[in-house]
Amino acid sequence: MKTDVIVIGAGAAGLFCAIEAGKRGRKVTLLEHNATIGEKIRISGGGRCNFTNIHTQPENFISGNPSFARSALSRYKPEAFLELVEHHKIRWHEKKSGQLFCDGSSREILAMLRKECDAAGVKVVAECRVSSVQKGFVVETNRGEMESESLVIATGGLSIPKLGATDFGYRVANQFGLSVKTLRPGLVPLTFDEPKEWHALHGVSFEAEVRYLAMELGPRNIRVNAISAGPVRTLAARSITGFTVMEDHTEKNAPLRRNISAEDVGNAAYYLCSPLAQNVTGQILLVDAGYSILGMPTAPAG
Ligand SMILES: Cc1cc2nc3c(=O)[nH]c(=O)nc-3n(C[C@H](O)[C@H](O)[C@H](O)COP(=O)(O)OP(=O)(O)OC[C@H]3O[C@@H](n4cnc5c(N)ncnc54)[C@H](O)[C@@H]3O)c2cc1C
Repeated sequence: MKTDVIVIGAGAAGLFCAIEAGKRGRKVTLLEHNATIGEKIRISGGGRCNFTNIHTQPENFISGNPSFARSALSRYKPEAFLELVEHHKIRWHEKKSGQLFCDGSSREILAMLRKECDAAGVKVVAECRVSSVQKGFVVETNRGEMESESLVIATGGLSIPKLGATDFGYRVANQFGLSVKTLRPGLVPLTFDEPKEWHALHGVSFEAEVRYLAMELGPRNIRVNAISAGPVRTLAARSITGFTVMEDHTEKNAPLRRNISAEDVGNAAYYLCSPLAQNVTGQILLVDAGYSILGMPTAPAG
């Protein structure tokens, strides 16, 4: 098979590149070894896809070539992507500091990109694993050999191999003598063998977030407080495994020897929103019958 452009990898980059090349009248084939396109987009933003940030500036990017972000952003601004999202009637909201998310699901962004591919005449071939490329270009896949005038490698980084991430792009870069910077993880979870030692750190990001927002919004006379509640019997809570064990434990060990109710949380919120709390900001109010002050559960009697 011969075509004008082959794009390898149907992630965010590959899909967009294929669409743009198709719009320029080039015959484009997009190859993806997963059964579905854009798996990382699907899980992005907690399933709601943080699809752009309206305050994006070249200074927000770290790159060996700072001109790249400048040039790319001068040609395609966040507003252009937002226009596309609106054209496809995808509802969105701003979460904070310019971050835009879908109201519904990241699948809407995927459907939009798929439609744009179809409109640009892009041929998407799924379950097509590329094993090697040769100059010319000749691409070796599990579906046979393919040829193209231009080749784009958009096989992404190494995060989440379960979703199809490979080192293919890095290998091809090495093959063509391009320098590759030493790779290091950008965002990783921390796991510890001894969780108890680190337990004190539990919830620190919540506190930091509340304090940061209180600092940022205080000059506009907006107060930011939060409520950290003990286990509350709600419809959703009933589906948590061991929820009744948590309740029993609180009742036996909390200083007030009882559980809290949704009404207790509502009352605390009422206080925080009322003029009674007019000079309270950046605080987390613990509504937990005092459970949080315990260093360890009360020892059994006897
Ligand atoms: C949990 C999580 C949440 C995120 N949330 C956000 C967010 O809300 N907003 C945001 O902007 N970014 C977010 N990101 C980052 C964003 O998802 C990635 O930066 C982006 O998806 C990368 O796109 P890409 O096209 O470069 O690579 P990828 O999406 O990794 O696409 C590469 C594609 O190439 C395919 N491939 C690899 N090797 C081969 C091969 N040999 N043959 C054929 N196909 C191959 C892969 O299957 C994959 O589909 C998030 C990332 C993660 C992990």
